[in-house]
Amino acid sequence: MLAGEKTATEMWLVKVFAVVPALALVAAVPLAWGWGLGWTDIALAVFFYTLTCLGATVGFHRYFTHGAFTANRGLRIALAVTGSMAMQGPIIGWVADHRRHHAFADREGDPHSPWRYGTSAGALVKGFWHAHMGWMFGRDKTNAVRFAPDLLADNDIQRVDRLFPVLTVATLLLPAVAGGLISWSWWGAVTAFFWASLVRVAVLHHVTWSVNSICHMIGDRPFEARDKSANFWPLAILSMGESWHNSHHADPTCARHGVRRGQIDISARLIRVFELLGWATKVRWPRPERLARKLKATTP
Ligand SMILES: [Zn+2]
Ligand SMILES: [Zn+2]
Repeated sequence: MLAGEKTATEMWLVKVFAVVPALALVAAVPLAWGWGLGWTDIALAVFFYTLTCLGATVGFHRYFTHGAFTANRGLRIALAVTGSMAMQGPIIGWVADHRRHHAFADREGDPHSPWRYGTSAGALVKGFWHAHMGWMFGRDKTNAVRFAPDLLADNDIQRVDRLFPVLTVATLLLPAVAGGLISWSWWGAVTAFFWASLVRVAVLHHVTWSVNSICHMIGDRPFEARDKSANFWPLAILSMGESWHNSHHADPTCARHGVRRGQIDISARLIRVFELLGWATKVRWPRPERLARKLKATTP
């Protein structure tokens, strides 16, 4: 299951990437509108949030991890690149970790179960921290040979995986360059870097981590699943459909997670656009009879 231990540098880098953007967000809250934040910063932050969030949800998660559809080579590489720009680690490790999560969900071997320490209040506080971000600070490294052999066999994906440091620099610098050019000022570059790079990365980190922590603790469980996954509606839009997590665990390869009436799933919309463009094929859309079988008897 494991493939050795992370080096001290890898562990240090994970900590810096996880903690520094979050601290930046807290420090930023009292900042006043007008001098350090403007519409350009907001627009850039929303653009890069949407781009990288969908890279992670549609690309890393639904496509690379679960094979919810088949992508042409151009789309495959574009999704690998934009997903890497979410700064959640190189693609092969990300996919291996997430496949291990599904293989052992909320049991021994799950890399980030909030139920790891038990069900008492104290154990759940510890478990929440572990599932949200604590698990990344451990030394365990998921064995990619076992969990992601398909990605290891793809030279293009190997290349994107190795380019992770470059893509990290790009995802942080591009908003600053754009902000500087649009405002034609160094100050515009600084504020765009703050809001559209640091704050944007921090918010997306916490939204993604909340799927691992909150969505395995709180919410509705309309579907039968072997684990404690739950649908948590408040995060549906920010997570682009990923917080319909009970539905996802009930049918992991399905391209749509918000499968029930009124459940907004922006990632599924984008997959539909890719399908209409002919870039995505063999999309696994929900099948009503399959869903009906998995619904709990008590669900209305
Ligand atoms: Zn899960
Ligand atoms: Zn999944």
